[in-house]
Amino acid sequence: MDCIFCKIINGDISSDIKYQDNKVIAFSDINPQAPVHMLVVPKKHIKNLNEADADIIGHCVAVAKELSSNSGIADEGYRIVLNCNRFGGQEVDHFHIHLLGGRQMKWPPG
Ligand code: 5GP
Ligand code: ZN
Repeated sequence: MDCIFCKIINGDISSDIKYQDNKVIAFSDINPQAPVHMLVVPKKHIKNLNEADADIIGHCVAVAKELSSNSGIADEGYRIVLNCNRFGGQEVDHFHIHLLGGRQMKWPPG
């Protein structure tokens, strides 16, 4: 399957891996939008939030929370972003959550 995140997961494309276990992997975003910008991605190819079950959603969020702590952004605060499909701004069709921190975030989002 021609999926960039599957290629990262199976090692065909290199990435700056920050965490992995049997279910998920986390790596730095190639085009960071904040001083800390990581992606938490299930190892199984799941298209988007609409297709993801509560177990994997919860696990991804829990990993993002741990990474916020490990990367020193937990106390000041951070943002988790989950884009779903076209109107949500999803560009890679493999479910993932963004962990962003290290600067003041703005609201509303674009
Ligand atoms: P989306 O818009 O789908 O929510 O976010 C996709 C994210 O994947 C973008 O922030 C983009 O920079 C990141 N991305 C796309 N291709 C690669 C890649 O090859 N390596 C890494 N590390 N990140 C990527
Ligand atoms: Zn994939």
